[in-house]
Amino acid sequence: MDLKKLVNKGVDSLSPYEPGKPIEDLERDLGIKNAIKLASNENPIGPSPKVLQSIDAILKETHRYPDGNATRLKDSIAKKFNTSPNQVTIGNGSNDIIEFIARIFLGPDDSAIYSEHAFAVYPLVVRAVGAKGIEVPAKDFSHDLEAMLNAIEENTKLIFIANPNNPTGSFVELDELIDFLEKVPEDIIILLDQAYYDYSSFETRDADFDILKKFPNLVMSRSFSKAYGLAGFRVGYSVSSEGMANYLNRVRQPFNANSLALYAAEKALEDDEYMIQCLQLNSDQKKVLYEGLNSQGYEYLPSRGNFISFDCKKDSSEAYNKLLNEGVIVRSLGVYKMPNFLRVSIGLPEENLLFLEKLKLT
Ligand SMILES: *Cc1c(COP(=O)(O)O)cnc(C)c1O
Repeated sequence: MDLKKLVNKGVDSLSPYEPGKPIEDLERDLGIKNAIKLASNENPIGPSPKVLQSIDAILKETHRYPDGNATRLKDSIAKKFNTSPNQVTIGNGSNDIIEFIARIFLGPDDSAIYSEHAFAVYPLVVRAVGAKGIEVPAKDFSHDLEAMLNAIEENTKLIFIANPNNPTGSFVELDELIDFLEKVPEDIIILLDQAYYDYSSFETRDADFDILKKFPNLVMSRSFSKAYGLAGFRVGYSVSSEGMANYLNRVRQPFNANSLALYAAEKALEDDEYMIQCLQLNSDQKKVLYEGLNSQGYEYLPSRGNFISFDCKKDSSEAYNKLLNEGVIVRSLGVYKMPNFLRVSIGLPEENLLFLEKLKLT
């Protein structure tokens, strides 16, 4: 049997997504106990204590299926962000939502647009359904919105915008974004990926869900994996028109988000005080890392997220491996066509200092 012949051509063209190396793996490889991971843009402090204190109660109920409609979490999101629960769709991580959108709108005769150096999941989901991905060259490592408009083809159904973008940290300012949305033909869907919204909106003005009133072709996705510190639970969501949410619910598996995740997300939403602490730490530590990189002569890309990408001025896989041997896991950006760049997630103060220390050895 020749699997290659049987497999859908789009899927055959893919390579698996490469996640950051787990701490445990590195500790086993090196025989050490104190490795640090600054590779997956996780909240370094962890989930809110409110999540941890109350999760036991849910554990005892895990012989039951989760609430397939995620009613309570949708209500909490709607209330907090001033939208309707009927506009909210819960995903197993926001990657789940990104995949739903591709499956709903794209087939083999369609195309979708995303930027060069944009989040790696977009080409994966587009090609998996056999559609054509149009990658538009970036401008100074940011989305070139004008070029993205010009790249629209007859069969273009979908445009992805990551704002802030991972791994470049670039950000499209709100007025620029609105201007772009106004120019996109209304029969093209725009997925605005706001996985780092909490960080960006802490530092600047960012798009809220009320812009959906003006742009019914817009889907906004957000995540509990980054600022909320729930990456291991896998939970994210989108807010869209009710009509769009209805289609999202048709492709969503009945119990895509598990009961612990639903509960943790609901509790995390309640803890504003904790969130502000996390965001403040991120802002402060970003400055420490900027200064540290500067003083070692590295040029970095200013970031609106919880990570910084910087130019090593040589093949970054070498620096990556050296850091790895020193017990520090970061990300090298070869797969993002930025072969000289490393991305470091903003960690705890002591982790950031250790990273800067070890970087001197590379
Ligand atoms: C991390 C990330 C996501 C997805 O995160 P989930 O864990 O699936 O919610 C989506 N978009 C971008 C740009 C990201 O960096």
